[in-house]
This record gives sequence, C-alpha cells and structure tokens, in this order.
Amino acid sequence: MKLYNSLTRTRDDFIPNEPGKAKIYTCGPTVYHFAHIGNLRTYIMEDVLEKYLRYTGLDVTRVMNITDVGHLTSDADEGEDKMLKGAQRENKTVMEIAKFYTDAFFSDCDKLNIKTPDVVKPATECIDDFIHVIEGLLEKGYAYLAGGNVYFDTSKLKEYYVFNNFTEEDLAVGVRDGVEADLNKKNKNDFVLWFTKSKFEDQALKWDSPWGVGYPGWHIECSCISMKYLGEELDIHCGGIDNAFPHHTNEIAQSEAYLGHKWCNYWFHVHHLNTTGGKMSKSKGEFLILPLLIEKGYDPMAYRFFCLQSHYRKNLVFSYENLDNATVAYRKLIQKIAALKDEGDVDAEALAALKAKFTEALDNDLNTSLAITALYDVLKAKCSDATKRAAIADFDTVLSLNLLAAADKLRAETEAAAAEAAAAADAQKDDFDREIEALIAKRAEAKKAKDYAEADRIRAYLSERGVTLKDTPGGTLYERA
Ligand code: AMP
Ligand code: ZN
Repeated sequence: MKLYNSLTRTRDDFIPNEPGKAKIYTCGPTVYHFAHIGNLRTYIMEDVLEKYLRYTGLDVTRVMNITDVGHLTSDADEGEDKMLKGAQRENKTVMEIAKFYTDAFFSDCDKLNIKTPDVVKPATECIDDFIHVIEGLLEKGYAYLAGGNVYFDTSKLKEYYVFNNFTEEDLAVGVRDGVEADLNKKNKNDFVLWFTKSKFEDQALKWDSPWGVGYPGWHIECSCISMKYLGEELDIHCGGIDNAFPHHTNEIAQSEAYLGHKWCNYWFHVHHLNTTGGKMSKSKGEFLILPLLIEKGYDPMAYRFFCLQSHYRKNLVFSYENLDNATVAYRKLIQKIAALKDEGDVDAEALAALKAKFTEALDNDLNTSLAITALYDVLKAKCSDATKRAAIADFDTVLSLNLLAAADKLRAETEAAAAEAAAAADAQKDDFDREIEALIAKRAEAKKAKDYAEADRIRAYLSERGVTLKDTPGGTLYERA
C-alpha cells in the first residue's frame, strides 16, 4: 500500500516495523465540548485506514488518548486550559465535563460506525508516565526549568521543523497578537512539558511532581501514551492537519530525544472540513455536531458517505446542499443493492476481479472516492447477484456504510408496504369481487384446457353483470361497472 507520509512528503510504500503487524496512534478529542463534524471527518478517515490495514491481513493495534488536561486555548502554551473553560461555561467540574463529552464522542463514533480503538486512555490517568518521561528529558539535557515550569529545549535538536512544508514563519505560533510572550522560554518554539506556574491560579486538576504541584503540557500525553501501549517504535501516527504543528512536531521532538532513536515512520494527516466561511473550529463557537444533523433528519451513514466520496488529503467543504446530494446518492445506492436477489452462487473469479479494483483504489493512498467507484462497478458487473452481494459485504468491512443491512431493511420495508397495500385492497373487496376472481381463475383453467366455449361462457356471464375483462401479459384484469 502507498500512503502519503507528511514526514517524507511523498507517497511511501507502507512497510510496518514488524512484519504482519501495524501499530497506530491517534490523537483523541479534547473533551471540553462536542466533537464537530470536522473532527469526525478526521476520525472517519482514520477508521477507514485502520480497517483497510486489517483488511490487508495486518494485525493492527490502535491506541488513542482522550485529552482531558493541558490543551490550552492556543495550541502553543498560551491561554487557558480548554477543559477549565468548558467547566466554567457549563458550571460543572472538569471531570464531569470530561465524562459527558467523552461519552458524547463515542456515541457519535458509534452512529458513524467508527470502531473504538483497542486502547483509549484519558491523559489524567497517565500522569506518572508523563513525569517519568519528563525526568528522562531533564536528565538527558533536553529540558530545562524556568519560572517553575519545565520546558523542552528545541535548540538541542538537529532538526525541529520536521514537517517543513510549512515556512518557519507559519510555524512560529509562540507569540501571537494579544498573547503575552512567555519570557521563560529560551527559544520561541520551546514548549511546556510541565506547568507549575500557571497563568491562571484556578487550574482545577493538579498533581504532585518533582517540580512542584502542577499539570502536564498537552504534547507530552500523546508521546507517553503511545510509548506506554505501543512501545518505542510506532508505525503510523494519525491526526488532523492542524495538529502537524506544533503538536506533532513537539511529539516527535520529545519522543526521539527521550528514546534516542527514530520514533514514528509514517504521519497520516487528514485535511480539514471547512464551511464556506473557513475551517470548522470549536473555538470559533459556531460548529455543527452530529446530533444536530440527526435532528434535521440526516442519516449518519449519509455523512460518512459524504466524507468517503472525497480524498482525505483534500479540504472538504461542508454545506447542506452537498450533504443533501450525498444523501440522495447514498439512498440510490442502497436502492440498487436492495434490488439484488439474495440467491445464486458466488463466482470466485468474478469476486476476485471486483476486489482487485477495490484494493487498487485503497492501495493508492487510501483513495476512498475510487473505492466508492469500485463499489458502483460491482452493481454494473456481469456476474451473479450473489457475487455482487459478496463483494459488497467484503468492501463494507472497510467502508462501514451498513450497505447490505440498509438494503435488506429497505427491501423488507418495501415488501411489508406492498403486503399491507394488498391486504388493504383485499379488505375493500366484497363478495362479488371474490366471485369474479374465482370465475377469472376458472376461465384461465378452461383456456388452458382449450375449452374455449367454457371460457367464452364465463366472459359472457360476467359481461351481463357489467364486468369487463382485459387479458394482459401479467394476467386478467377486470373492471366493474
Ligand atoms: P480536538 O478535539 O480539537 O483535539 O481535535 C480532534 C481531531 O480533529 C484532531 O485530529 C484535529 O486535528 C482534528 N480537526 C480539528 N478541526 C478539524 C476540521 N475542521 N476538519 C477536520 N479535522 C479537524
Ligand atoms: Zn496528540
């Protein structure tokens, strides 16, 4: 499989460290608010990546953190802790906020068929691990104490800007308009590993540490949680493109400084979901959440389909019009699948050919839009319906669009509606209708037995009573006067 790697800025062959296995780490949500549908785009595409790697036979272990401490309102170390802001906004404790929005996040994931990673770990449960790694960084000379805080010293690295498709100016987020520069920092991109001297006194969660009571910076949690559950070498690190700098850049800096060797080989970044007004962002205050789309009548599968229709490395513009189009396309797809008969034999050769197109699409830097085309090709293919259903079931282990289940449900609903209509029509019939139908059946038998005289007699008898018969290829219809 070829996968675009932000580290090399090329599409590299994916070769895991250990043959047959893949270790993946995913930056989890900051649980101070609902995940918006942009965040969920990132998790949908990461889910497809994980499922496709499993599909190719790899034994995948995927770990995700839950950010419940340390992520400040600026991605650099400025502003307030987002969790504290969330708690103040809702008049709740930080832990109540964390629980509520973590549950909300997994409920969204469930509705979107996003598989829960093998390990999910809140940052607040790993404080000792963070302290241990920070101590190591201090010992190795990569960190320093200033003003009560522990900072990572970026000048100690040979290369800091590892994703250097950005300019240095873009990356310099340390000082922003309206934000006071942190004078403790020796270099503008040094970052906090452990805060003791918070700019705000009322930080809700604090822990004891060798440097005083305080709390961890945001970046250290991902390095530590990844190393704790996946070891010293990671195959793929995932996240939204906004996390490339400073978050992932700082993760690499501290992990490799601590380990003394390369840490993660592939960096998978999902590009943004934008509104017509720009990037969808929680901090902007206006954002769309999945429960709102559901309330408006949208099927979560239509949103997943909308995301899969475009490549993960392209920005995707959300509008209701675009979602409506995806909804129509998804419904039509399900209708076509529902029309397939659940019978016949699977043709192994034809199935292999259909699967080859699907894997070709996803091997090509996870091209989900081409994978969807491969799905439409299944419907057009010249093979048995059983083969088509088998291909659809196979693809859906990766796409997770509920394809067969939704189609079978639709078919059952259509059949039930037809049976209901027939029963209602039947209830309208009176005894004369039943007599007419019995005579029509008798006439058909007479015709079959070439007893045309009897057939004509029945027709004449009915005609006298004001009933006209009309023979059609689908059977005899009648009209009462
Ligand atoms: P957060 O909850 O802010 O920590 O973000 C969770 C994930 O969503 C991270 O991987 C972010 O990079 C990603 N993300 C944030 N905004 C967007 C967006 N507009 N579109 C896609 N992904 C995003
Ligand atoms: Zn992270």
